[in-house]
Amino acid sequence: MSAARARRGAPAEVAGARRRGGARAAAPPTPGAVAATLPPEWRAFVGHWLETEGSVIRPAARGDWEVELAPSLQKRWRRQRVRLVFDPQRPTLPRGAWYTAPGSGAGRKLLDAALDEPVCTRRTALPQVPGAPAEGIASVVRVRGLTWGPPRLGPVRYERRLAVHAVLTRWGGLPLQEQWVVVSGPHGALAERAEGVDLSEVRAREGLSHLPGDTGPEARRAMWEEARRHLEALVAEREAEWERALSARRDDELDRLGAFFSARIEEEEERLRRRTGAAEESDVDHQGDATSLKLEWERRAAEVRQRWAIRSEIRVWGVCEWSWPVADLEQELRTGAVHVRLTSRVDVARGRPALPPCPTCGHPAEMLVRVRGSVACVRCAPA
Ligand SMILES: [Zn+2]
Repeated sequence: MSAARARRGAPAEVAGARRRGGARAAAPPTPGAVAATLPPEWRAFVGHWLETEGSVIRPAARGDWEVELAPSLQKRWRRQRVRLVFDPQRPTLPRGAWYTAPGSGAGRKLLDAALDEPVCTRRTALPQVPGAPAEGIASVVRVRGLTWGPPRLGPVRYERRLAVHAVLTRWGGLPLQEQWVVVSGPHGALAERAEGVDLSEVRAREGLSHLPGDTGPEARRAMWEEARRHLEALVAEREAEWERALSARRDDELDRLGAFFSARIEEEEERLRRRTGAAEESDVDHQGDATSLKLEWERRAAEVRQRWAIRSEIRVWGVCEWSWPVADLEQELRTGAVHVRLTSRVDVARGRPALPPCPTCGHPAEMLVRVRGSVACVRCAPA
């Protein structure tokens, strides 16, 4: 994927993510004005972005837009208004108008401006009703030799979360792009990490509800620092994974190169041996051939290593501050006379309990067993 295409990809996805968030659609398309050669999302993206920035769009003749630019854009482009033409078939443009397509000069101007700063939004995740499955923690933890008591779901409360949307690009080897969302919760703990443009299985509305006031700039900076730490950890993990996947292919290529040059050098030395005695004076030249082959081999091998070397680039294109519903779910495990109380944090937006900490070792437990009148997970239970 070329750099230009990579740059084009992101803004359309920004628009897509926002549309799913329930934002108002851009100005209605004029029938027949959008030629088949322009991607249909393009016009919606341009309109939505211009309006978000504070510009005012008025439909003009032949599907054009007359745009009263937002103050920041007036300054950037040194003009107050601009007429946007979307029709690729138009033979001539009105004076000063911009032909606006993803690859046109004006289109690139728009994209450059849109890419300058990440999109920031605030949303509230809507709670599911009921907030947790009827079987409670039993829905996520298996038990052996133990029985469950009834689950008790505490009151729903809202916590502040910060979701960072980023495009991770791998250069070197085979270029690749991945979309990630990294979410940190209160005190910066990692709440969620998902591959994709946006978080899945969440219904949301715009704006922050149920949260007490605004965080100060200090708290905001601390949250951002934590989010960045999670992003860096993600990049390191992905690079390690890519290294594993690509090293075999790089080594294959080096092996083929090695086989080729070894054979050539062997031929060269064989020829040299045959001619020894017959033409003493030319030995130097032949040794020179073998040496230059070795140098060429080294040069080509360095090239291969360089080509497969992984370089990655992460670009944050969106930041969303969330108000997220959570609750505590309590449930007893009974074994004989011993009752052990488990607590799980429930993601009420998805009605999904987290794995509860093991009562013995504290690690998130997927399976609990009875051990001498107490409860342990498979990790800490004596074998
Ligand atoms: Zn344990």
